[in-house]
Amino acid sequence: MKQIALYGKGGIGKSTTAANLSAALAGEGLDILQIGCDPKHDSTRMLMHGTWIPTVLDLIRERGDENITVADVVYEGFCGVRCVEAGGPEPGIGCAGRGIIATFQLLERLDALKGDVIVYDVLGDVVCGGFAMPMREGYAQEIYLVTSGELMSIYAANNIAKAIARLSRRVRSRCTLGGVICNAKNIEGEREFVEEFARRINSRRIAYIPRSRIVQVAELQKQTVIEYAPESDQAAAYQELARTVYGNETTSIPTPLDMDELESFALEFVQV
Ligand code: ADP
Ligand code: MG
Repeated sequence: MKQIALYGKGGIGKSTTAANLSAALAGEGLDILQIGCDPKHDSTRMLMHGTWIPTVLDLIRERGDENITVADVVYEGFCGVRCVEAGGPEPGIGCAGRGIIATFQLLERLDALKGDVIVYDVLGDVVCGGFAMPMREGYAQEIYLVTSGELMSIYAANNIAKAIARLSRRVRSRCTLGGVICNAKNIEGEREFVEEFARRINSRRIAYIPRSRIVQVAELQKQTVIEYAPESDQAAAYQELARTVYGNETTSIPTPLDMDELESFALEFVQV
């Protein structure tokens, strides 16, 4: 079983990428479990054709965790992808990472963490204990950083690289960096910038996902691109990502940059 996690800044395209990755892997005949670990709980929505599935945290709040079965939390979506949403606290109270911790405990107890590939879709703006859980306890073994060429998303990616580097020194953790996925925003010099960032943190850009209008069109139809436009170039980009990730055996311990270094090297890629 391969357990991978996508981390990145909010809004950068993790869930879109994760859902299409899962759909493409399922299309290859693999058994996939996708776990949304973002309080936004929309990770699996396109796989579920727009349905908001109940979150683990909501169910625990309503019934207590003794009365929850696998069927209450795992929902079958497009192409048989099994979907789970961790959920989050009610706004203003509680810790955002708690949903993830509770979800892992529950799925572990229900023996539901299985399949050929588990895809964790995790918010990376803050890498507090909860959000680091998938990498900390030996669940996610390969982390993929999703970023565009915008400085803020590179910033977040660098922070996640710091967390991976720190956690990789722990005994129980088996997490390593699988690579950097460039989810393009079509800004100048982006491809080269992300490529160089990946190299500097001792990793590599393993995929380039073009910015495409078809992503939004598919989203309005409440589908992944893989389902909505399977013959499109964009679907081909996600299928290539799926093959690369599934076959990836080269991972690394990242060497994050310090802020001065990050900012000065970013300047090299911007025309001023
Ligand atoms: P995250 O999960 O990182 O918060 P989402 O996957 O929800 O981000 O994506 C945020 C928005 O960006 C969505 O509306 C999505 O349609 C759009 N988006 C993501 N990737 C692409 C892409 N490659 N081309 C065009 N739009 C994209
Ligand atoms: Mg998301």
